[in-house]
Amino acid sequence: MKKVAILGSTGSIGCSALDIIEKNPERFQIVALAAGKNIKLLKEQIEKFQPKQVAVSSKDNVYKLRETLTAKSKVKIFHGEEGIKKIASYSSADIVVSAISGAAGLLPTLAAIEAGKDVALANKETLVLAGEIVTKRAVKKGVKIIPVDSEHSAIFQCLEGKKKENLRRIILTASGGPFLDFTKSELKKVSLSQTLRHPRWKMGKKVTIDSASLMNKGLEMIEAKWLFNLDFSAIDVMVHPQSIVHSMVEFNDGAFLAQIGVPDMKIPIAYALTYPERIVNDVTPLNLLKVQKLEFYKPDIKKFPCLNIARDAGICGGTAPAVLNAADEVAVNAFIQKKICFADLAKIIEKVLNVHDVVCNPSLNDILQADSWARTETEKIIERMVR
Ligand code: MG
Repeated sequence: MKKVAILGSTGSIGCSALDIIEKNPERFQIVALAAGKNIKLLKEQIEKFQPKQVAVSSKDNVYKLRETLTAKSKVKIFHGEEGIKKIASYSSADIVVSAISGAAGLLPTLAAIEAGKDVALANKETLVLAGEIVTKRAVKKGVKIIPVDSEHSAIFQCLEGKKKENLRRIILTASGGPFLDFTKSELKKVSLSQTLRHPRWKMGKKVTIDSASLMNKGLEMIEAKWLFNLDFSAIDVMVHPQSIVHSMVEFNDGAFLAQIGVPDMKIPIAYALTYPERIVNDVTPLNLLKVQKLEFYKPDIKKFPCLNIARDAGICGGTAPAVLNAADEVAVNAFIQKKICFADLAKIIEKVLNVHDVVCNPSLNDILQADSWARTETEKIIERMVR
């Protein structure tokens, strides 16, 4: 029986993970959950899975949750960042699903690693911000970081049992998002609701917007660099609108391996939970006869500059990826609030990176400071723009 803690249990990945766990009660037991503000859903999850400990975002939410639970409920409730870290390092857990969105996932994920837990990593920001620190700590603690991100899960599966020295490159695939065929001028007029209509994947708002701008793929390049210990010269991106090939690897003899399947996050989530085993699930099987064609294109970086902005920040290293990510989080939030337009995202992020003094070989503290500096700087730039 694997004992599981989930950080971000009420989000898209968290809910899918719980669905898999519910259907496999002989394999998994939920011991702890951390959520943000969705108290109604967390209450349902507590009643169904009976975790020993939960965490919510604030003290207010602790009271709200207490009120809705029955008096005999013995679940321990923590709150805030310390609370999430408690869930991440809970002694009973064997594996922690790290599925909080954004930079907020970094410290809890590190806490899980420090506590010696294997991590099913959906929070790519952990590696974008502090890839070197995190991967070194994981090696030192002897814990596995198993990717949940579909592209990285694909590469992880393709590389299983293979020799790293035989690898020529990896190719991350990108659906291209809802604006693949839009012209640059059409992109200036796209609305929030259009941006949130992803053609293939059902995901949270932030990652859906990042997918439309290709920033998500840029962040994934940085994530891949650290997960698989690669240079950027060995990481390529191809647009693949069908989202059937989840990513692929090329070996030095010219052989390619690809992992393919329907675009459903339940497959990589379940694999991260059961690795190295596989379990039967209720995902609709892939019907290649129906898909018929698989297409691949070079990403258009003129239309989607975020991809290269992210790649350059990754190559620069140090605190640049943390600044990239923070600027993107703030800019995407401003776009959700309809303060800026879609085409502004890249401009704002680039401006913030241009005025940042990169710290090389940063400490965790340097990274957190850069993150916080970038948030303030991005807000200033946005304020100046909307004035
Ligand atoms: Mg992905």
